[in-house]
Amino acid sequence: MQTETYRQLDRDHHLHPFTDFKALGEEGSRIVTHAEGIYIHDSEGNRILDAMAGLWCVNLGYGRQELVEAATAQLHELPYYNNFFKSTHPPAVKLAEALCRLAPAHMNRVFFTGSGSEANDTMLRMVRRYWALEGKPDKQWVIARENAYHGSTVAGMSLGGMAPMHAQGGPTVPRITHVRQPYWFGEGRPAGQDPETFGRDCAAALEAKIQELGEENVAAFIAEPVQGAGGAIIPPESYWPAVKEVLARYDILLVVDEVICGFGRLGEWFGSVHYDLEPDLMPIAKGLSSGYLPIGGVLVGDRVAETLIERGGEFFHGFTYSGHPVCAAVALQNLELMQAEGIVERVRDDVGPYLAERWATLADHPMVGEARSLGLIGALELVDPATGERFPKPLGAGTLCRDICLDLGLVMRSVGDTMIISPPLIITRAEIDELVSLAGEALDETARRLAAREQA
Ligand code: PMP
Repeated sequence: MQTETYRQLDRDHHLHPFTDFKALGEEGSRIVTHAEGIYIHDSEGNRILDAMAGLWCVNLGYGRQELVEAATAQLHELPYYNNFFKSTHPPAVKLAEALCRLAPAHMNRVFFTGSGSEANDTMLRMVRRYWALEGKPDKQWVIARENAYHGSTVAGMSLGGMAPMHAQGGPTVPRITHVRQPYWFGEGRPAGQDPETFGRDCAAALEAKIQELGEENVAAFIAEPVQGAGGAIIPPESYWPAVKEVLARYDILLVVDEVICGFGRLGEWFGSVHYDLEPDLMPIAKGLSSGYLPIGGVLVGDRVAETLIERGGEFFHGFTYSGHPVCAAVALQNLELMQAEGIVERVRDDVGPYLAERWATLADHPMVGEARSLGLIGALELVDPATGERFPKPLGAGTLCRDICLDLGLVMRSVGDTMIISPPLIITRAEIDELVSLAGEALDETARRLAAREQA
């Protein structure tokens, strides 16, 4: 089929996620046809460096035959069976064991889901059930953060702190509230405050919220180690230690959403390990299978698991595809490859520091107000070279830069005027050079076009 035929059929029949349907209909879609390594190809013959690893998930890169073979073998052996009604199957059991071996020592159980959103729905029900079983049914409030992303199901978007999502589709799930995010640049680099003081202030906002709600009513605090969709927001160094101090003073569960940061993104198996957190629960997905097949889950710490098991009775929750055998077999193979190839160590000791060094050079660009990275996640804050401040929103500098990136052969995502990357973990030093060089060219071109607009 030709590009135009695909485009027309797409326009006529396909409603895309997170998309203005009308605008896309007018513009038409890019048709991605195949991919290898860190590159995707489209139907018009373009080869594009995918610095987003799909949607932060293709950690081992495209075209890994071992994953194809794992799926094929499992499809032959047992394409589907569920884990309801006292059944299980080898891929789910093996994956559960492998995950718990890689997770922090106090996490020894996993509940499988089909996605990160479902993982967060599961987490919410589990947390509230835990407190009910503990004889504290009033502990229902979950404190999350503004501009967090925890998924697109009703519970996922309620936990998330994205105001435009809350504004659509009716009321959010009750007893979820949000506190200030540790986003120094995005919160306007508050005058007179260095990032570290700001980080501690954000932790203080959490404590104030706990006190306002009453500890006896608060079930959990949920956060991403590094906010992904919000803009690759790396909190100030002071933030997590200060949050840990706050949580130590209250009997509240800590949920660390590892959907993006898990599986090597920050140079450890989990973001929680990088920041030395001891979560009670960790929602996971994405990098678990390198995105080859949909699978997620919740890793459950001993404290919660013991109560659910010992005092529980039936937990009325689960999905047809919880622990799907083919997805589980692929995820298991993915974890085995990551271990065999030392992918996590490579991010921590080699390509992560190399990206940090190269990425930091972009801070010299007059359009860049801040360049930050950690492991293989990074962001650039676009600013007006004339003022060093953000551009007026309606100018759409970020969207323009994103479109220019694509024309130059680079997928770099924009969140407002924040440009973000999260490349496959198999990226090489030479490919990082290429990425940074393309990003630099895109910044130059964005600056040129914005200046031309101003003159027009
Ligand atoms: N949590 C986080 C931190 C995420 O980034 C995402 C997806 N971007 C989700 C949850 C939801 O995952 P999914 O899209 O698989 O439902």
